[in-house]
Amino acid sequence: MADCLFCQIAQKKVPSEIIYEDEEIIAFNDIKPKAPIHILVIPKKHIEKLQDIEDNDKELLGKILLVIKKIAKEKNIEKAYKVQINCGQDAGQLVPHLHFHLLGGFKTPKGDL
Ligand code: AMP
Ligand code: ZN
Repeated sequence: MADCLFCQIAQKKVPSEIIYEDEEIIAFNDIKPKAPIHILVIPKKHIEKLQDIEDNDKELLGKILLVIKKIAKEKNIEKAYKVQINCGQDAGQLVPHLHFHLLGGFKTPKGDL
C-alpha cells in the first residue's frame, strides 16, 4: 500500500532503525519508545489489523512470534517482556498495518519490604 507508513518502512522508503529483517518480516525501533526496549515487529505484506488475518497467514504469524523470541534473546530481555497488538483504532491502533509491540527492559522496583 503506497500510502501506508509501515509498508514504506518495510520498503526502506522511510528510514528506521532496523533490528531484524528477512523476506517476510521486518522489526525496527519504535520512534516513541514506551519502555527501555520497544521494538515493532511487522509482516512486510500489508495486513491492516489482526481482524484481517486469514488461514494462509498462519505460518507468517507463527514466524513473527519466533522472531519476537529471537529478538528478546538478543536484547537480553527474554526473562520478561510484553507483546502487545492494538487491534483497531478504538483499541489504540494508530498505524493501520498489523504490528506487534515488543516491550522490555523493565526494572522491578526493589523497595524496602
Ligand atoms: P499503534 O498505536 O499500536 O498503532 O502503534 C504505532 C506505533 O508506531 C507507536 O508506538 C508509534 O510510536 C510508532 N511509530 C509511528 N511512526 C513511526 C516511525 N516512523 N518509526 C517507528 N515507529 C513509529
Ligand atoms: Zn502497510
